[in-house]
Amino acid sequence: MFNKVLIANRGEIAVRIIRTLRELGIASVAVYSDADTGSRHVREADEAFRIGPPPAAHSYLNIDAIVAAATAAEADAVHPGYGFLAENARFARACADAGLVFIGPPPEAIEAMGDKIAAKATVAGAGVPVVPGTGRPDMSDEDLIKEIAISNDLVVPFLIKPSAGGGGKGMRLVRSPDELPAALAAARREARAAFGDDTLLIERYITRPRHIEIQVLADAHGSVIHLGERECSLQRRHQKIIEESPSPLLDAARREAMGQAAVEAARSVAYTGAGTVEFIVPGDDPDQFYFMEMNTRLQVEHPVTELVYGLDLVEWQLRVAAGERLGSRPAMRGHAIEARVYAEDPARGFLPTGGTVLALREPTGPGIRVDSGLAEGVSVTSAYDPMLAKVIAWGPDRPVALRRLDAALAGTAILGVSTNIAFLRDLLRDPGVQAGHLDTGLVERQVPSADESHIPDDVVAAASLSELLSSEHSGTTGDPWDVADGWRIGERAWTRFRFKVAGAAAEARLRGLASSGAEAAVGGNPPVLVQAEFDNADLLITYAGRVIRFAHAKDDGTVWLARDGYAWALTEAAASPTRPGRAANADTTVRSPMPGTIIAVHVSAGEQVSAGQPLLVVEAMKMEHTVTAPLDGTVSTLTARAGQQVGIDEALALIERQELIRHA
Ligand code: ADP
Repeated sequence: MFNKVLIANRGEIAVRIIRTLRELGIASVAVYSDADTGSRHVREADEAFRIGPPPAAHSYLNIDAIVAAATAAEADAVHPGYGFLAENARFARACADAGLVFIGPPPEAIEAMGDKIAAKATVAGAGVPVVPGTGRPDMSDEDLIKEIAISNDLVVPFLIKPSAGGGGKGMRLVRSPDELPAALAAARREARAAFGDDTLLIERYITRPRHIEIQVLADAHGSVIHLGERECSLQRRHQKIIEESPSPLLDAARREAMGQAAVEAARSVAYTGAGTVEFIVPGDDPDQFYFMEMNTRLQVEHPVTELVYGLDLVEWQLRVAAGERLGSRPAMRGHAIEARVYAEDPARGFLPTGGTVLALREPTGPGIRVDSGLAEGVSVTSAYDPMLAKVIAWGPDRPVALRRLDAALAGTAILGVSTNIAFLRDLLRDPGVQAGHLDTGLVERQVPSADESHIPDDVVAAASLSELLSSEHSGTTGDPWDVADGWRIGERAWTRFRFKVAGAAAEARLRGLASSGAEAAVGGNPPVLVQAEFDNADLLITYAGRVIRFAHAKDDGTVWLARDGYAWALTEAAASPTRPGRAANADTTVRSPMPGTIIAVHVSAGEQVSAGQPLLVVEAMKMEHTVTAPLDGTVSTLTARAGQQVGIDEALALIERQELIRHA
């Protein structure tokens, strides 16, 4: 076994790998970019090496810097995690050349599975069913169209995919043969730009498909086993959100058939280590399954397999890489479901968010596991993937696992960074999800994004009470005028607390002392009795007889509160008396919708623009977002510059209304 292993990754997966290394008594070495100096994986590893500036291309994708760090640390092996260099054959070879064991399959297996066309041909040769389709590097658009015309298997709709693709990028749905020429031309342009390779394949589009994948494990002595399936049909834009094992669809016989096909796929490329063979199952023909691709690494969703089989896949990756033999497969037990917590805002079209983690509550309890890269004080930047943590629940059966997961999400609070936790709870409650009737279109079809425009009364009261409580705590002079309880000679007066939440206004009036009892009137509602206290970092309030616990943090005029998986950021509005001029400007300030980099500015100061006209483009995590003019007017101020890093809601330009200009 190894003495010291370097983890060429960051975030939750680096933390998770460190945990297993520690259990096995193996020293861990972290690497980090300048954006990650204070991050959790750096704090938890035995040693940590800086590998470069924030952009991944200069740090987590920098093969030379990582190999140099492993050599300097005298590590014997490198674990790539997932993403970044995990499926990079050049990196696997560079490790071997430097005398380091790469914890993954041989580079030839990575290459064979890295290209969709080659991978399909290889596994089809081993008898594994593949989605009917066509495509070869030497085929022109005309060749592809001709081939489709004579094929019996290929019927509309079609899916065009870049052969070198990944992450669902550049795929195009074609509903009629007439659309093919234009779609092929566009797909080639996209594929060339994204992957530097415009080879395309055309597949039959499987309707209402389910994504079911098989975990395989292979040793260097010819033994290959499968560890059942994970169903990952709950996706948004081909990005997995919730995964489970076993799949509600499969019985033991079908599991064995798919498992055997996956084992054959792994054998066809002389695979070693942990890998995942992804299959697609047609909604209208659930007995059929087709190979989609093989991921030659550990998957994000591997914990559900670990929980139902009671083993540690990272441990087995290490054992196999160290030359050990696989034992027999343990029995499957119960049901496990994982939900991915992303730094993204469902209310803003799932755009990435960011910020510093001000307060953090991660759930514990029977069957609950949290794999997380978070800690209080850690900053979440737009430089990397927005997945922050995974909450995983095991139960003796699916209904228990679902309920435990929902309760665990309700007990998760991340303050300072907006996340999708409330959306995940809504999704788990969907009748289709509850019944196990899943397909990859369910999320987009059925789940409305969580409505955060309505702020519950108890939340507004809690924010007000926390302000009042803080002033009571700091009011140590004994002078009643220091405390904002509205104390007057005679009768107590009301104090007004005003906040801005998600662009809307909220207010409450309080009278009395928060710590010993007060009245609160939220909005125009009649007053109710309230009381509040800080319990460590939590805020505990009694609101009309109901005791409610909030995770609580305060940052620069903003009160963050969370309960039941929901989180709110309430910004004090009372402190800055609103002038009419300001109010009029509110909707004319152009702000960045997400943290990221400005990659293009289409207008200049003084220019006339009309509502909806593209002003600039912000990019984060390979996602481009065009910011448009909110109204007809003139660009009176423009601070945005191409290449500039911007924060969420940062002001980028000011558009002055047409009529204001005329009157001026
Ligand atoms: P990538 O490598 O870009 O992730 P995949 O081939 O793994 O691409 O496909 C990603 C997702 O696209 C799948 O999980 C599935 O939801 C959908 N998909 C892929 N192929 C098909 C197909 N032939 N028909 C319908 N949906 C498909």
